[in-house]
Amino acid sequence: MTIADNFKAIQEQIADGAKDSARDPSSIQLVAVSKMQPAERVRAALDHGHRLFGENRVQDAQERWTPFKKDYADITLHLIGPLQTNKVKEAVALFDVIETIDREKLAIALADEMKKQGRALPCFIQVNTGDEEQKAGVSVGELSALLDRCRMLGLNVTGLMCIPPVDQPPAFHFALLQKLAQRYGLKYLSMGMSGDFKKAIPLGATHVRIGTALFGDR
Ligand SMILES: *Cc1c(COP(=O)(O)O)cnc(C)c1O
Repeated sequence: MTIADNFKAIQEQIADGAKDSARDPSSIQLVAVSKMQPAERVRAALDHGHRLFGENRVQDAQERWTPFKKDYADITLHLIGPLQTNKVKEAVALFDVIETIDREKLAIALADEMKKQGRALPCFIQVNTGDEEQKAGVSVGELSALLDRCRMLGLNVTGLMCIPPVDQPPAFHFALLQKLAQRYGLKYLSMGMSGDFKKAIPLGATHVRIGTALFGDR
């Protein structure tokens, strides 16, 4: 299987899942997670025509995507990993969507930097649906306050993102995130990875973040 074959196979599975759930396949975006992958695999994805990618570290993403972004004007990059406030400047300059807002301090820094750079990026809030100590994300109980704060700061919050605990059935977490997005009037749901994206589609995923199933092991 080539990388192009992998993309076709996953796109087909997304389309099938959409059909089974009476959803429009074009309402589900494939965020190809290119973190830690060799450059030639990313090149193959670009040659295949894919333009939407996710990276979890600012510096790695900068090194990889600054040259590619010069060659391809239509690349869209999502930040899907935790963001430190000292990397906000680079992140706002490079990324097109920030999926991982999870605290007020970061929201303030992002709002400030977006104003400075004149870049009003769409943002998602990451929710720690499993209340895991080691995991990033705002707790379910604090989501409402953080969302209010983001909106007051003028951030364009359009969605929610989660990473379910590895040792639990993911559907519960996807359903919870869907419920929260409905409650707060948010349009986008970033949920589902290589191992569980098929379960996220019936529960409303609009962005599935897939790495190894497209590019192979990291
Ligand atoms: C690495 C990563 C993914 C992709 O995981 P795969 O299992 O390789 O598909 C998705 N989301 C986040 C936040 C990641 O860090």
